[in-house]
Amino acid sequence: MASVFVACTETTQKVKNLQKIQELNDALAVTNEELYASNEELGSINEELAAANEQLAETQETLSTLVKQLSSSEEKILQAIDTGKMGTWSIDPYTLKVTMSDFVKNLLGLPVDREPEMEMIMKAVDPDYHSMLMNALDSAITNGSSTDTEYPVTNLITGQRKWVKATGRVFNDRHGNKVEYSGLFMDITERKMDELRKNDFIGMVSHELKTPLTTLTALIQVLHKKLQHHDDAFIAGGLDKANTQVKKMSAMINGFLTISRLESGKITINKEPFDLFEVVRDVADERILAGTSHQFLLSSDGDCHVLADKDKIASVVSNLLSNAVKYSPKRTAISLHVSLTARGVCVAVADQGVGIRKADAEKLFERYYRVEDHSTKHIAGFGIGLYLSAEIVERHEGRIWVESEFGEGATFYFTLPSLKFPH
Ligand code: ADP
Repeated sequence: MASVFVACTETTQKVKNLQKIQELNDALAVTNEELYASNEELGSINEELAAANEQLAETQETLSTLVKQLSSSEEKILQAIDTGKMGTWSIDPYTLKVTMSDFVKNLLGLPVDREPEMEMIMKAVDPDYHSMLMNALDSAITNGSSTDTEYPVTNLITGQRKWVKATGRVFNDRHGNKVEYSGLFMDITERKMDELRKNDFIGMVSHELKTPLTTLTALIQVLHKKLQHHDDAFIAGGLDKANTQVKKMSAMINGFLTISRLESGKITINKEPFDLFEVVRDVADERILAGTSHQFLLSSDGDCHVLADKDKIASVVSNLLSNAVKYSPKRTAISLHVSLTARGVCVAVADQGVGIRKADAEKLFERYYRVEDHSTKHIAGFGIGLYLSAEIVERHEGRIWVESEFGEGATFYFTLPSLKFPH
């Protein structure tokens, strides 16, 4: 009986063991399946990794080609700078520490074995240009504007005087932080000397022409007055035309004379208080008297009093108005608006004419600059009016600029410090 019981117990135990084995087998099969799936996943991850590696290798190759190209362009630029008799300079926007190439140091007579202090550099620069350079530095660093300056320097070792040109701008890192204010430095002595000689010549010729022209103008005016009711209509008409042409010639010669005076520093600004709107009105009236088919629309708002050289400012207004007439179709309107703004008293002369391309708008105020265009090539001019206007406005600490859409007219603006709210 006891042995039957033992046999029974053994059988039950065996069954239990078999069940456990079965359970374990099942669990093993599940784990195997999972392992198989993970293996497959690993396989595809491996494949992706291999592809990424390949891409990385390709990118690295491109990168090293680009680095090579960059360093060869840098070499070429340095070569070009060298052959073009140029140097490089850089100023730290925070510490104002200066670094410059040997070319610049040699030109200024500074020691080449160390970087110069700003004070030392300024000793080589003509004192008349110190404040202009400091303003350029200030506006470049605070507003990020690019700079283009020309000034005379005296070599601190040899005492030789030269003219130099420095162009520069502020460079930012990719987060927009200022990294350096740097650029190129050129010796422009030869060009400047040519310019000064040309200028002297123009000044001399204009001066010589002015005397006979003044006599001629006076004679024509008297004759015109005496003979305006002459029986022969041709005489009266002819003298009228001669009068207009002589006036044009006088204006041109006066322009050349003013340029040469400006550039030799012989021009003086005689300031007096006056209402800028009144000057604009006088200039427009004069133009209406001389005869025009254009319609002038005058308006003003605010106190327009300024402290400035009245005659010179009148010549600026006259030049802007003449241009508006010259470069816009007959019988269209030209508006002249004077207003008190945050920047000072502002004059705006708006026409409905040919307009100005953006590329030209930046250069219009340069000396002798004229737009090369079929729509304006038949219009006479020397490209000095806007240059003179800009020089006069700048000498009053004002600003002059133009806003235009090509083909849709132009508005020229200039500002002068207000007498009511001086800077
Ligand atoms: P000028 O008229 O004698 O050539 P300016 O210095 O007065 O010289 O003008 C320079 C150039 O600017 C002109 O040749 C002309 O192309 C352009 N310009 C000036 N004023 C205007 C205007 N109101 N509309 C279109 N172009 C203008």
